[in-house]
Amino acid sequence: MDLGIKGRRAIVCAGSKGLGRGCAEALAREGAELIITARGGEALEATAKAIRDATGVKVKTVQGDITTEAGRADVLAACPDPDILITNAGGPPQGEFSGFELDDWRKAVEANMLTPIALIKAVLPKMTERKFGRILNITSYSVKAPIARLELSNGARAGLTGALASLARRVAVNNVTINHLLPGPFDTDRIRGNWRQVVAAGTSTMDELERNAVKAIPAGRLGTAEEFGNFAAFLCSAHAGFTTGQSILLDGGSYPGTL
Ligand code: NAP
Repeated sequence: MDLGIKGRRAIVCAGSKGLGRGCAEALAREGAELIITARGGEALEATAKAIRDATGVKVKTVQGDITTEAGRADVLAACPDPDILITNAGGPPQGEFSGFELDDWRKAVEANMLTPIALIKAVLPKMTERKFGRILNITSYSVKAPIARLELSNGARAGLTGALASLARRVAVNNVTINHLLPGPFDTDRIRGNWRQVVAAGTSTMDELERNAVKAIPAGRLGTAEEFGNFAAFLCSAHAGFTTGQSILLDGGSYPGTL
């Protein structure tokens, strides 16, 4: 299926690795021009080159921390008028609720709620004027079902979802959609980094953690960044204009609810 986004400009935040990279690669396969961001320049440039070599599309890189005002300004300067915006950033740290200071909460809200809001506010007017816009926020399974020790993520991401719920309905008439993709367990550096913290505490090994994680997933495996990206690309496509304001789980069936 041709997704109808050849030549569209797409910003993919935090796109050098993991789920962001999966999205960037999938959009590039459809011929979208990319602006990808990350803090680390080496992986960012390597990813951009790999995507250019594989697809021939234009890929701009913007190195910086997307959770800062300066980082966001640089991305918007490189591409003030995208057709597609995928917001993403690293997730907040794990920990005990009692150990989090107010400053930890402020950082989580800044990174995983205010950053997407600021980017969306900047790009929305042109999207509505042009009558095409696809905004996708990479959030988390934690929006549907809380994850223990990830209260910072549970809170900030649910806040983002609520903050955009009525806006998504308001801009739909202009063929601008705002949706959220909620990853369950995907095989990326993020999940392995979380496991390494548990291993460091001396209670488990990486193999045990992976075996236990997989046991709890009805699909019997972790998700891949490629399948995440392909799903995201469809939601960014010309065919997805009738889906907005949705929080869509990609979790191999892990969420136990019927609806
Ligand atoms: P990942 O494999 O660790 O990749 C993270 C990517 O984001 C890297 O390209 C990283 O590059 C970039 N990045 C991180 N912080 C950034 C920042 N402040 N500014 C710019 N770029 C930044 O992580 P992932 O698994 O793809 O996770 C993506 C998001 O999904 C995270 O918010 C994570 O919490 C959430 N999530 C993931 C899972 C999962 O199972 N993987 C499950 C639920 C939710 P640099 O480090 O060079 O900046």
